[in-house]
Amino acid sequence: MSAGARTRPWTTAVAAVALTAAGTLTVGAAGTAPAQAAAACNGYVGLTFDDGPSNSTTTLLSALTRSGLRATMFNQGNNAAANPSRVQAQVNAGMWVGNHSYTHPHLTQLGQSQIDSEISRTQQAIAAAGGGTPKLFRPPYGETNSTVRGFEARYGLTEILWNVDSQDWNGASADAIVQAVGRLGNGQVVLMHDWPANTIAAIPRIAQNLTARGLCAGRISPQTGQAVAP
Ligand SMILES: [Zn+2]
Repeated sequence: MSAGARTRPWTTAVAAVALTAAGTLTVGAAGTAPAQAAAACNGYVGLTFDDGPSNSTTTLLSALTRSGLRATMFNQGNNAAANPSRVQAQVNAGMWVGNHSYTHPHLTQLGQSQIDSEISRTQQAIAAAGGGTPKLFRPPYGETNSTVRGFEARYGLTEILWNVDSQDWNGASADAIVQAVGRLGNGQVVLMHDWPANTIAAIPRIAQNLTARGLCAGRISPQTGQAVAP
């Protein structure tokens, strides 16, 4: 499939594959959008939501699904262990799940055994919840060093920081969050969080902004750390 033929929401992408295979205008069982509604993707961005799963996760997932967006959820291990069904809901909604440490500490201030524990327990908690074994790691506060990276490597994790910080953790308005996403270029990643109400409120306009610019929400490649086609 050429880049120009790629379609926007993952549900319609599935439908398009079914269309190609059948050679007739048949929307797949899971497809809801007509094929002509799918916009071309000239590039991909990585939407990321940290610190979940939380009480906000269900609402966030509904907003993303309604807008046809997929995202990477950097979960805390303690939250995944406390709310395994919400991790499963993330996966069921088509999201990708990454590791964001177990208790959200300043990893660079910890000893080696604590760093190891923060990463390994989260791998286990997410896997036990049905989120698969993460391939992506985001250190809390973006704080990292060679020791942290060594443990990431031990667990087969690629460190993912961000190109744009939405500042949603710092009280940014929904308008400001949409504008932050508007600064993303092809392959780039934006930092957002699972819990701010303004972030959830911004989701429909984030989708509109990306569509207007011919960009689609992609997965983050563990090989390159860049956003790519799902
Ligand atoms: Zn965080």
